[in-house]
Amino acid sequence: MNQNRRNIAVLGSTGSIGRQTLDIIAEYPDLFRAWLLVANSSADLLIGQARQFRPHMVIIAQEQYGDYVRDALSGTGIEVATGSEAIAQAVTAAEIDTVVTAMVGYSGLESTIASIQSGKRIALANKETLVVAGELIERLLQEHSDSVLYPVDSEHGAFYQCLVGERREDVERLMLTASGGPFRTVPAERLPQVTAADALKHPNWSMGAKITIDSATMMNKGFEMIEARWLFGIEPRDIEIVVHPQSIVHSMVAFKDGSVKAQLGLPDMHLPIRYALGLPDGRLASACRKMTIEDMVTLTFERPDFDKFPLLRTAYAAARQGGTVPCVMNAANEIAVASFLQDKIRFTDIYTIVEKTIEQSPLVEHPTYEDYVASNADARCRASHLVDELMINNKRLK
Ligand code: MG
Repeated sequence: MNQNRRNIAVLGSTGSIGRQTLDIIAEYPDLFRAWLLVANSSADLLIGQARQFRPHMVIIAQEQYGDYVRDALSGTGIEVATGSEAIAQAVTAAEIDTVVTAMVGYSGLESTIASIQSGKRIALANKETLVVAGELIERLLQEHSDSVLYPVDSEHGAFYQCLVGERREDVERLMLTASGGPFRTVPAERLPQVTAADALKHPNWSMGAKITIDSATMMNKGFEMIEARWLFGIEPRDIEIVVHPQSIVHSMVAFKDGSVKAQLGLPDMHLPIRYALGLPDGRLASACRKMTIEDMVTLTFERPDFDKFPLLRTAYAAARQGGTVPCVMNAANEIAVASFLQDKIRFTDIYTIVEKTIEQSPLVEHPTYEDYVASNADARCRASHLVDELMINNKRLK
């Protein structure tokens, strides 16, 4: 057995990115071992993964599933734990080399901080961590220089690849590509009537429900702009969003001499995950389907419609204001998206809830971790009240 095999912690192993990460671990058994698997509530899937990958430990965040998972894995020698504190504790284990953070939303923050503090290599798929607390994460990374953050997001993987060998002072702007989502060609006046099922039909990418709705509102692109700002140290005004419906160009970097570098590939998350796991050594050769000329016959680009997708504007404003504003934006969005998925509110109500929650929330300019925790809880509460109000109003209108 290869002594240099890297132990991987997969946080969110039962989600879309987590499952694709395990595909890659299975593809390179000599290079990687799944050492820790963490799921929120998908107990059966986690048990199946544990039987297949034989990790040292599994954690199910929702404590009510603890006994069920423990019973199913008894006699296997796999340690089982529950609760979010166990996750932040487990990622610090000396045996773990790389932490793949693929949990949904704000829940990824605490364990990402613990991973940085224990000097881990982090493959960051949980972009909300940087949206919520980018300033704090940047500070922690400076304090813990043995920890390093590699992006898993396809656009940020593209920026990373375009920036290899370049000087930061030569960069003029980042051109962040967006598919435009399922409603790119739907007229704005029809958006109040679209359903969760309509929004879940993404044209190019197969992803989890939360990010698919974020992609439909283009909140996801706003988040990615903030993610890019912290990952690459580029001001929001120098990050331009470009709609590219084919999702073949994963993003571009424009340099001060007028040159533009782009990274291309098929729209398949295995690619950016494989690239992040290969760092810093190099690319992992694969038998995956490779891009052909036919895949590139039509590549088109257009400007985003900020009036039809106002959350793009909200994201730039939040990035400019800084402090706890992006944290509040994220919390309100999580509540609004969950409510939309449950058919409680209309699609366009997501915008209203995010914007009103930001307006109502107090701002902390240079937040500590505790300030983020408090802002997140407060904003969720305000957003939930707004959902209730809208449900009453929507019923009256029907
Ligand atoms: Mg992306």
